[in-house]
Amino acid sequence: MKRGSSLACALVVVAGCGGASARPEAPRAEPFATSADAILFDGAQVFDGERFAALDVLVEGARITHVAPEIEAPTARHVDGAGHTLLPGLIDAHTHAGMEPRSLRLAAAFGVTLEVDLFGPPHRLGPAREAEREGHGTELADLRGAGTLATVPAGHGTEYGIPIPTLSQPEEADAFVAARLAEGSDYLKIVYDHWAAPGSDTPFMPTLSLETVRALVTAAHARERLAIVHVGLESDAFDVVSAGADGLAHLFSDRAPRPELVALMVAQHTFVIPTLTTEARGCDVDGNGRTVADDPAIAAWLLESDLARLRRVRDFDRREACFETISASLRTLRDAGVPILAGTDAINAGTTHGASLHGELAMLVAAGLSIEEALRAATSTPARVLGLEGRGRIVEGARADLVLVEGDVSTDIHATRHIALVLHAGREVPRPAPIPADPSSEE
Ligand SMILES: [Zn+2]
Repeated sequence: MKRGSSLACALVVVAGCGGASARPEAPRAEPFATSADAILFDGAQVFDGERFAALDVLVEGARITHVAPEIEAPTARHVDGAGHTLLPGLIDAHTHAGMEPRSLRLAAAFGVTLEVDLFGPPHRLGPAREAEREGHGTELADLRGAGTLATVPAGHGTEYGIPIPTLSQPEEADAFVAARLAEGSDYLKIVYDHWAAPGSDTPFMPTLSLETVRALVTAAHARERLAIVHVGLESDAFDVVSAGADGLAHLFSDRAPRPELVALMVAQHTFVIPTLTTEARGCDVDGNGRTVADDPAIAAWLLESDLARLRRVRDFDRREACFETISASLRTLRDAGVPILAGTDAINAGTTHGASLHGELAMLVAAGLSIEEALRAATSTPARVLGLEGRGRIVEGARADLVLVEGDVSTDIHATRHIALVLHAGREVPRPAPIPADPSSEE
């Protein structure tokens, strides 16, 4: 603890030491007897998942065991937090982690200690959860996911050359959802998207009927699972929220949300994962033509192939309108109290795992969220909404998923990129620069 005198004075006052009878020194906190692997984050500014505060944080094993303004733990490994900000491990609520271990290694190295895969190989989910339970593989982000998504034949999700089961009728919904849960899915992902070329009413791809979406949502809820729906248009969002969807996997950008949609989302506690990284990827949000690939704090950790993927969208649309509709919609939903979850939709063009979440945080702030609101969207809000117990908070008993960054995140969201240390389940995540490719990867 190396902070200034104000906190010591506060302790003096609490102890009744103020005034003429004051003791010459502030009472010291009782030293903690700690386990051999204990780590004390000493003197950092802490974002606890809700707000910023000056706190010390003690980690023992895989857990945070003590959080207080001043902790004495002489036998613990001390991490000097002066000039740093300590954050909960970040959560990316919309990714596609695929089969490559590197996607989750990249995520963890960038402080994203949990990814929610909203369409990927289902057989990866069980082993990932098992590894997490056993405390193995902490150099990889933890994984939750939807496995195979629900879509019609030839609908969105079928275009990647990987055969997946599909459905067309409401009567098929119950068995479809049961099969997904049997495969290990944590959530149900549904596609309902009428996005079409300008002037056309024919969607680019066929999509489920609303009756089938309703049956899928009902089947998910009957099994106490969340139904998260990919939507293209505002009208899609209105339809699926009316059908009881729990969350939107993207924020539409065709128009502002009608007031009835906002009211319905508030009444039903529907959350939104705006995925600005993907939805607004053509927009020059910072007005300088730069992406996260141009930030040395990011680029140093990436391979050329990652940077090429991030730069795949360089024909920036410099019109203000490019970002204005979607950011105004996001502010409307924020003002109404709709839960907002940070998600990147990695590994789409213009994204990578981990790095892009830092870009998403900056875009959320550019869209008008406060820095605390943006950070909540990547920590406590997804933890609460998606049932991720022990995540997203720096409180006693929470998992020791922590990201220490240089600088003051409370005044500059870009400081999240200057990572000094990542702890995942209490273990330090190795950060070789750049993060190497998987040995067998052709990427
Ligand atoms: Zn996606």
